[in-house]
This record gives sequence, C-alpha cells and structure tokens, in this order.
Amino acid sequence: MIEKKYSIAIDGPSGAGKSTLAKAVAAEMGIVYVDTGAIYRTIGYYVWKNNIDPKDAEAVAAALPNIKVDMCYGDDGLQHMMLCGEDVTDQIRLPQISMYASDVSAIPAVRDFLLDMQRDMAKRYNVIMDGRDIGTVVLPDADVKIFLTAPAEVRARRRMKELVQRGTPCTFEEVLRDIEKRDWADSHRATAPLRQADDAVPVDNGKTDFEESKQLLLRVIKEALAVEK
Ligand code: C5P
Repeated sequence: MIEKKYSIAIDGPSGAGKSTLAKAVAAEMGIVYVDTGAIYRTIGYYVWKNNIDPKDAEAVAAALPNIKVDMCYGDDGLQHMMLCGEDVTDQIRLPQISMYASDVSAIPAVRDFLLDMQRDMAKRYNVIMDGRDIGTVVLPDADVKIFLTAPAEVRARRRMKELVQRGTPCTFEEVLRDIEKRDWADSHRATAPLRQADDAVPVDNGKTDFEESKQLLLRVIKEALAVEK
C-alpha cells in the first residue's frame, strides 16, 4: 500500500462539476476518488424503495440499523455503491433519488452513521473526496480544500447533459428547479450545511471548460501541497 500522505477536499453545490473533475484529478495524480454524494444517495435510495418519508427523521433513523452500505472499486476503477450486498451504483442516479438524498442528508443520525466510513477512507488512502461538508466537518484537517462553484444555470445545463447521456432526460426547467431547491436545502440545514471552509480556495468554473477547470484544480492542489511540505 502507498504510504498515506495527504487528503484533498472538494465541496460545492450540486452540479458544479465536482465529481467529473475530482475523478479526472484522481486519475492524473494516481490517488483514490471518493464521491460522498453517492453514499447519501444510497441511503436516499433505500428510503425511497422502502416507502419511508425522507423528511421523517425518526423513521429514517429507525431504519439505519437495517442499512448496510459499502463502497468498492470495480475493475472499471469506478466507485461502486453496495446496499445490503446489492450493487446500486446505477439506481442511485435516478433523478428522483437526488431530493431523497438531500432530505436524508439533513438528518443528524444519517450524517453520524456515514462519518466514520468517509474518514476511514481518508485514513487509509491519499484521497480526493467531494461533497458538501468535507472541508468543514469530515476532514477539517485536509491538506487542500477547494470550494467549487458555478452559476445555477450553468450547473443545470451540465446536469441536463449528464441525465440525457444516462437515458433519463428532463427539461431544463425541471433540472434548474431541482438544483435551486437542493442548493437552498443543503445550505440552510442545521447540521453540516454546505458552506465554504475558511481556509478553502474558491474556484468558479462557470466560464472554463473541462480541461481548463482540471488544469486549474491541479495547479491549486500542487501549489497547496508544495506549501505544506
Ligand atoms: O453530490 P450529489 O448531488 O450526488 O449529492 C446528493 C445529495 O447528498 C446532496 O444534495 C446533498 O444533500 C447530500 N450530500 C451531503 N453531504 C455530502 C455529499 C452529499 O449532504 N458530503
């Protein structure tokens, strides 16, 4: 195993390009990419499948002992989510699961339930981890913290493209509404709200294309890691 040296945290609102960029940066740097949104989506998917009200904190907390969430990396190098032994990597991307994930993620018991799993990954590997509270709560001592943003319309357009590619097209208005609703819910919840850590580097990728954004992130990361040493 490679000696654990550093952790990189990327936070930001839905559709800012965190996962696509973090995945590319991880491949370039030869480190592990951890998509924490997928973990919340897995809980959201369980709750949806079992007809539990995602806003009912007591009902969701009562279900947690029955939920076994695991993460593994397939031959494709991608992060797969296992729910009670079943690979649900594709199912958690259904559009209706986004709001379920957002709702359950506001429940403190859910956040506690998933905290060790996320920290454990960062303890064992050099990681680039993306989410909403990585730099503020999960890895407050991360070596590099980036807060990635873009205007809501740009994020909605990108998310739409992704949904079309996955075969679940939606209208622009639907996607924008979902993004704005989740932005509000994620940044106004009492526990671990989405916010920029005081020591995070803000990066707006609204006007840069994928390659430019990737190079920008690599530069920020390499500079921060060089200062660390
Ligand atoms: O990143 P993604 O859109 O897949 O995340 C789904 C939902 O999970 C988000 O809207 C957010 O509410 C929640 N989430 C969170 N904390 C994280 C990652 C995701 O609350 N670290």
